[in-house]
This record gives sequence, structure tokens and C-alpha cells, in this order.
Amino acid sequence: ASLVTVLFHLGEMATATQSLDEDTFEALGVELGYKIQIVSPEDEDKELLEDFGLDLDAELEAETDEELEPRAPIVTVMGHVDHGKTRLLDAIRHADVISGEAGGITQHIGAYQVHHEHDGVTRAITFIDTPGHEAFTAMRARGAQVTDIAILVVAADDGVMPQTIEALNHAQAANVPIVVAVNKVDKEGANPDKIRQQLTEYNLVAEEWGGDTMFVDVSALKGQGIDELLQAVLLTADAGLDLRANPNKDARGVAVEAHLDKGRGAVATVLVNSGTLRVGDAIVAGTAHGRVRAMFDEHDNLVTEATPARPVLVIGLTSVPGAGDSFIVAEDDRTARQIAEKRAAAERAAQLAKRRKRISLEDFNKALEEGKVDTLNLIIKGDVSGAVEALEDALLQIDVGDEVDLRIIHRGVGAVTQNDVNLATVDNAIIIGFNVRPAERVQDMADREGVDMRFYSVIYRALEDVEASLKGMLKPEY
Ligand code: GDP
Repeated sequence: ASLVTVLFHLGEMATATQSLDEDTFEALGVELGYKIQIVSPEDEDKELLEDFGLDLDAELEAETDEELEPRAPIVTVMGHVDHGKTRLLDAIRHADVISGEAGGITQHIGAYQVHHEHDGVTRAITFIDTPGHEAFTAMRARGAQVTDIAILVVAADDGVMPQTIEALNHAQAANVPIVVAVNKVDKEGANPDKIRQQLTEYNLVAEEWGGDTMFVDVSALKGQGIDELLQAVLLTADAGLDLRANPNKDARGVAVEAHLDKGRGAVATVLVNSGTLRVGDAIVAGTAHGRVRAMFDEHDNLVTEATPARPVLVIGLTSVPGAGDSFIVAEDDRTARQIAEKRAAAERAAQLAKRRKRISLEDFNKALEEGKVDTLNLIIKGDVSGAVEALEDALLQIDVGDEVDLRIIHRGVGAVTQNDVNLATVDNAIIIGFNVRPAERVQDMADREGVDMRFYSVIYRALEDVEASLKGMLKPEY
């Protein structure tokens, strides 16, 4: 019986080209008498590190209470566009009781730390300096959870908006406690209580209304309420979070931002989760590796070590890691390089596997004969509308026979965009470009997603290829 039939008996309606979820796979395995093990990329990486004698989970579990020391909470600011996230991050920077205005200009390195004083006790708080839930979610997608507390900014003159809800959903899904900053209270018509009212619908009930969420009225513009907000963050941390880490071991953490700097080469801002990072350490971040040549804090001061929750800009990596990539200190340079190389190889293999899933013009006919497809979906982009129309007309006149449909699912004038690639991914389409080229970014994305893009400057060449593909005559080029 075909897999589709077996699946049908398991109560799953599936088509031959559909991908299945993990539960279905496991049920399928049981039915067919196989034990199916689904290996996630995280598990794979865990195994890779274990080959080098690194078991990070076991390391954390083995830590004793005496080894753990308090660390600063790490905070992300989220909320609807224009509600004041960027302004608030600025205001908070200026509220630092240690560096303050005198601490010089703050560099944007992706995260910063401020100090707050209450009842004579000074404590540090770390802020992720990229506002919004997109960065938060992108990092989570890479398996990195760096945020301990989310500040949800809601403008008192505007109220709860779509991205407010999105942001709070993301925070709640990640089990990250929320402190609400009701912003722009300086504005006429601001109604902070309305915000409290609206948010009760989303299980955020203000403490003063009997709930357990702290709401603080602020004006990022005027710098009002910032101390109270920082205090609320610390109280929220103390109420439910056990923020401790062992500083006395090799550093482990996350790269929160990275780029290529003209003068300094690959630079990455890392946030240490546990251990202490020192100048001279051999490190791996994602598929990048190197030795820490120098470290800077957010005031561009050189630092020699970074303890848990202390963001630093690291110089000395051989390439740029991705935001959200984990980093670790390795025994020596050689180990760091080997881990990075193995990861890069695993990544390439995963990409290849992904690429094989999508259709290309060369293998279309084979997929057709195997009954995996019955439609050739095309996206046409050209430099002028006349050319796009001419190409479309000519393509639609190809005699395709009965078994197959040729559909132009999208056409347009201009370069191939990321949107086109996205569409091709969703609809398993092939992109035909006439007298246009894709931006490098777009080409990379197509390679990554395994989308077949073809470029022509003569219409009949495009027709020839499509015809040959339909007849199974187009030979792969290697
Ligand atoms: P973001 O998109 O959430 O990062 O919002 P911004 O920080 O860029 O702020 C959007 C606009 O609102 C800017 O024009 C800010 O000057 C203004 N704004 C931010 N905070 C306040 C505030 O507390 N009071 C007033 N009146 N305006 C503010």
C-alpha cells in the first residue's frame, strides 16, 4: 500500500507532496513497525558538542547552589510601532545612576546595561537594544531565549493595537513575565486607565486592580516614571525569577547582534549566560570561531572580562555569526575551529536536504511521472511590461498535453524580490527572470530555500527550457 493509504487508515488525509508533522510520523512508524526518531537541529548540535566533550545541559544541572551568584535581569522592550519603544530605550539609558550623562556617548552594540538605585542598593539591569518582538522571535527560532522580562510599551493616547497583542502573545508563549509601560502620559487625552482596562482582556491585570502585573505610567519623552519602571522590573524579577548563574567557569551565551566592521573585521555583541568571558578565550559562535582579541562595553570602553548578563562587543571572530547563535568558550583554538567547521557542514547538509524538496525545471518531468506534481507553477519577472506579457503569452501557448497544467501564478515588472522567492516557496514555483537579475540577498535566499530561478535575455530560450522540462528532456547542469 502507498504511504498515503496507510496514513488514511491512521485517520490522516494527506497528499503525496505534503509534509507531515512529527506526531503523524511517529504514528506512521508504529504502523509500519519501525521506530522513528525525529532529530531536531538542536539535538543534532547537542550531539556534535558532546563529541567534543561538551554537555552544556549536564554542566548546568551539576551546578551547586553555592556556585550560583545573582545576575542582572535581561529585558526586551516590545509594543506597537510608534508607541515609543526607541524613545523609552533612550530614556532608560540616560537613567543609569553610574554612567549617566557623564558616562559618555552610548554606542549601539545591541544591548546595554544600566544601574538602578533603590534604598541605597544599586543593581544592574540589561536591556536588549533592538526594540520589538521580531528580534525576540528570531532569536527564539534559533533556540535562544535571552529575555527574562518583557516591557510592553502601550501609548496612553492610542491604546492596545495589533502589534501590542502580537508582542504580548510572543512574550506569553515564551513564558516571559511582562511589565507594562503606559507611555506618553504627558500627552493631552492620555488615558492610562483605559490601557489597564483593555489589557485585562489579555490576562494582564494591574496589581492595583488585584492582578499580578505591574503597570507603570511613563513619559519616555520627558523621562518621567523611568525609575519606577526599572524598580518594577526588579520587583518582577525578584517575585518569580531565579536569576542566578555560575560566573566561575568557561563562558556560554548568545550572540545578540553581529556585523562586519570595516576596521575591526567581524564583530559580535554577546551576552554571557553563565561563566566569565575573557580576552584570549577561544570561542565558537554558530559557525564562526576565533579568539577574543578585545572586548568593549556599550560606552566603547575596553573591558577584560564579561560576567553573566554583561553584554560586550567581541573582536576576533573569523566570520560573522547570526543573531541568536549560541556561543561557547572552547578548550583551545583548534577545538573552536573544528566545532565551527562541523556545524557549517551540518548546516550545508540540512540546506541540501531542504533544497531537494523543492521542484526544479530539470526534475519537473520526473516528479510529474512519479505523480508527485501535476502543475508547473511559474513566476515571471521582466524589465518591461511588454516583455513580461510576451513571455507569458508564449509560455501559455506551449502544448503541455493532458496530464499537466502550466500556471503563471505571479508576474511583474522589476527585479526578483524576496517576496517572489517566498511565493515560490509556498507554491512550489519556478522563477523565470527576463532581462533582470536578483539582488545578492535574494539569490542567497533562493539558494537557501531551494527555489529554482532562471534568467534569460532571449524569449525563445526560456520557451525551449520550459518545453524541454515538460517533456523530460532538460538535462541537469552541474
Ligand atoms: P517606536 O516605533 O515604538 O520605537 O516609537 P518611537 O520611540 O520612535 O516613538 C514614536 C514617536 O512618539 C516619536 O515621535 C516620539 O518622539 C514620540 N514619543 C515617544 N514617547 C513619547 C512620550 O512619552 N510622549 C510623547 N508626547 N511623545 C512620545
